[in-house]
Amino acid sequence: MARGYERIRTRGSRDGACNICGRFGRLTQDHVPPKGVPRIGQFEMYRLHEAMGNQVPAYRGRLFQGGPTHTTICARCNNERLGGEYDPALISLANDVHRCLTAVTALPRVLHFPCMPQRIARAVVGHLLAVGVNMPAAGEIGSALAGFFLDPAAKWPAELEFSAWVYPYSRQVSIRGAMMMKFGLSGNVHFSLLKFYPLAFLITRGDISAAGPSIQSILEGTRELDDLGHFSVERGNFAHFAWPESPEEDGMILMGEGAVVALPRSPFESTR
Ligand SMILES: [Zn+2]
Repeated sequence: MARGYERIRTRGSRDGACNICGRFGRLTQDHVPPKGVPRIGQFEMYRLHEAMGNQVPAYRGRLFQGGPTHTTICARCNNERLGGEYDPALISLANDVHRCLTAVTALPRVLHFPCMPQRIARAVVGHLLAVGVNMPAAGEIGSALAGFFLDPAAKWPAELEFSAWVYPYSRQVSIRGAMMMKFGLSGNVHFSLLKFYPLAFLITRGDISAAGPSIQSILEGTRELDDLGHFSVERGNFAHFAWPESPEEDGMILMGEGAVVALPRSPFESTR
């Protein structure tokens, strides 16, 4: 066991305050990503900073079948809200993109998939807020995101950006509430990130210029839960697999307890 290794906690006591709505009660297991998205095997979970640089840590991570879980949210947030209202839109888009990436017939280079961005954004927010034991949504950004998730009529918080892109890699990343600093530039960027095959989502406050290709603001032009937006897949033009969580030479990233990565266990898969 490597020095400094601490087992990642994904569950605390059986009862507790829900990370999202704050209500006290029995906590339930949130699957990240939700069941129903394309499955790519077993995963081992690590703290993100220990798996940086595409290296697999020397010790064994925490093993999950199919994907990590976090036992941190109440049944209502988990089953009614996430599972009932919001995950289906996320799952549907993930499957559309998967079919496009794995198609054996010739397809146009760019494809546009209709989707329900307001539901997808709430699903992403819910899964991100579920990361971290005993980490109820708090602070300006956490409260704004929880408010958006809990109120189906709420507008996306004006001070935050929501972006999505194609992520054709198997390593899963969940980062809740990190900070990115670029040397020589004033203003830090707060961000949260959720990546699992075949989609990635980023929530930021502050400008994260130098964005990779195909980064899309899918919420634009939508307001109601069922408003249709679209998500584009341009094959052969994908952001780097470690964007944006891998620090570049001109900056650094501060991450806390809510930053984990899950690496595929199969020897046939690279750490990507
Ligand atoms: Zn709840």
